[in-house]
Amino acid sequence: MKLKLEDFDKGTQECIRCRNCTIGAQVPGVPAVEVCPFHKYHNNNRVYSAQSFWQTTKSLLLGDISLSPLFTDLLFQCTTCGSCVEHCVFHLMQNPYVDSVKLVEYLRSEMVKKGFGVPIHLKFGEHIEKEHNPYMELHQNRWDWLPFKKEKLPKTAEYVFFVGCTSSYRQKQIAKATVNILEKLGLDYTVMCRPGMDEWCCGSPLQRTGQEDKAKTVAEHNLEAIKKTGAKKVITSCSGCYKMISKDYKELYDLDYDFEIVQSVQFLLDLVKKGELEFANPVNMKVTYHDPCHLGRHMGVFEAPRELLKSIPGIELVEMERNREYAWCCGAGGGVRAAYPDITMFASTNRIKEAEDTGADALVSACPFCWRGLHDAIEEKGSKLEIFDVVELVEKAMKNRS
Ligand code: SF4
Ligand code: SF4
Repeated sequence: MKLKLEDFDKGTQECIRCRNCTIGAQVPGVPAVEVCPFHKYHNNNRVYSAQSFWQTTKSLLLGDISLSPLFTDLLFQCTTCGSCVEHCVFHLMQNPYVDSVKLVEYLRSEMVKKGFGVPIHLKFGEHIEKEHNPYMELHQNRWDWLPFKKEKLPKTAEYVFFVGCTSSYRQKQIAKATVNILEKLGLDYTVMCRPGMDEWCCGSPLQRTGQEDKAKTVAEHNLEAIKKTGAKKVITSCSGCYKMISKDYKELYDLDYDFEIVQSVQFLLDLVKKGELEFANPVNMKVTYHDPCHLGRHMGVFEAPRELLKSIPGIELVEMERNREYAWCCGAGGGVRAAYPDITMFASTNRIKEAEDTGADALVSACPFCWRGLHDAIEEKGSKLEIFDVVELVEKAMKNRS
């Protein structure tokens, strides 16, 4: 459904400038934790906040201002993490109008239409059109991580593993671990790697940065390609792909499909529950889990990764202070890592400190893009924490003892 500025009018009236979306703490039952990474980065300056998105929208609706490059830093430094939405009084009262992430994505698309997009976002947008990934890589190299020749994979299968650009080109160890698990379980799966049936970027980097028309084009391609495989279930590695295909393809682009979509942790936990996945090796490690915004807050998947981790013998799971719907964002999403790397580093080092405070040996997440942002911060800080995706620990626990 195409949104219009007027769709946000009710939200502008209902925002009471309470600042829960920045400093939190004022709603009974909601923990008093810091909420917004870009607000905190700007020393709690309220100009940089979800509240400010609503005030800006009010002025736009009144015709007092119009969008211009002056708004770039306000609108494009938000990681679209959704923490402000979770803390907003009116959202908590189930008012669908008060969704700051929908609003900021809408305002970004208006900025792009007016020619005020962020150059680096537009550059990866052009590259996605040409080579179907935002990493300036060649499409033909998308499957280089496969541990065998891609021709070995069947054209049709019960399951499709939708790898995503980050696991395909950067955090390849997550893609490999997933395929190794699927192989070991002997499942009927494939990866979309043939001409006309090839995986493209899911479109999330485009949608998050105001390039929704390009995002819709890749969505249509991907759905067509998935249909050709005849898959009943699509498994994603990336939490961003999971949210994009499950929610945005349907809600934002009115696209329909009849397969089921799950993130790796949900898929694997289901197998554990059915007794079809058992672990041969203990993984003796104290870990803490970072909720990816797109899996947790945006899709409500909080318990599956935790249950899966706890099912691995030897794992001790401890929680960070900010967890589940109140988790602190890794700072990489919403196009921020590409355009404002200092904000990403600020948010991710903040998260690493919180993980260290738990006394865990390792930080675990369920998203290659979070892995990337958090890993950079571990290096920057010289932290002793190890970092894993949940599937990497599952693979370790499945390996035969040598
Ligand atoms: S989505 Fe996240 S970064 Fe953006 S305003 Fe809300 S809390 Fe801040
Ligand atoms: S929490 Fe909601 S109502 Fe309060 S200032 Fe933020 S957007 Fe407005």
